[in-house]
Amino acid sequence: MLPRIDLHTHSTASDGTLSPPQLVRAAAEAGLDVVAITDHDTTAGWEPALQALPGGLRLVRGAELSCRWNSVEPSLPLHLLAYLFDPDAPELVAELARVRAARLQRGERIVALLRADGIDVSWPEILAGAGGGTVGRPHIAQALIRAGLVVTTTEAFGPDWLGERYRLPKEDIDVFQAVRLIRAAGGVPVFAHPRATRRGRIVPDELIAELAAAGLAGLEADHEDHSPAERAHVRGLAADLGLLVTGSSDFHGTHKTVQLGAFTTAPEAYERIVAESSGVVEVASG
Ligand code: AMP
Ligand code: ZN
Ligand code: FE
Ligand code: FE
Repeated sequence: MLPRIDLHTHSTASDGTLSPPQLVRAAAEAGLDVVAITDHDTTAGWEPALQALPGGLRLVRGAELSCRWNSVEPSLPLHLLAYLFDPDAPELVAELARVRAARLQRGERIVALLRADGIDVSWPEILAGAGGGTVGRPHIAQALIRAGLVVTTTEAFGPDWLGERYRLPKEDIDVFQAVRLIRAAGGVPVFAHPRATRRGRIVPDELIAELAAAGLAGLEADHEDHSPAERAHVRGLAADLGLLVTGSSDFHGTHKTVQLGAFTTAPEAYERIVAESSGVVEVASG
């Protein structure tokens, strides 16, 4: 039987709802053979996930980096998955810390906008809800749910709330610099959900070609935010550019409905990621 490989998941180290130990246990229970932990802009979940790794499960240590394409006006946010990079690479560590600080500032500003409109959400409570993990809009969404203003996270990301009316940009990492820093740290960069039109504007294929020339390794094709046509397009683009393709759940616990292993990556693509990496070794449990 082919191994089941899910290369994009979130824990409480960012905006997931399972702790890193709970995440790796759930991955084993879901029948996965390989799971990547890819929290937003942090490696804080790596060690606790590693310590709790169940028998037979391989752990790929990674992160999802908040990036920005600055050559368009207004600039476009996008996400890069970074696999098996050195978590102590100084330049990358500094950029991740800077983005996490920018997320705190943005979160506090969003809360100030909400409060100015008479909406009773509390920044200290939202911070407590994030439990020391990277703060994101899903944590603010939880506050809106607690206040009875919306029922679901999806509703909280609608245009009246965090999707538009109360959406603020954050200071992300320039995407070309991110590719360079990930590679310099021995990591392997993969563009997360590159055609997710439901999340807003998407980048043109020309940028993906430029990123491929700059060192991008792959594209995430199978993702719940891509339609079948979008998945096929991403596969075609990857074939044209010589990039690998991945598929993954982007699991967030109860902050989203998608389950671990809902989308998976072919063994050849996974092996290519491991082969191209030199930052940290891919870990199998004992
Ligand atoms: P942020 O990183 O703070 O900008 O928040 C973006 C995160 O919110 C994404 O990584 C997803 O986890 C989540 N998200 C974005 N759009 C939605 C949505 N429509 N429904 C639920 N979660 C979403
Ligand atoms: Zn997220
Ligand atoms: Fe993402
Ligand atoms: Fe994600």
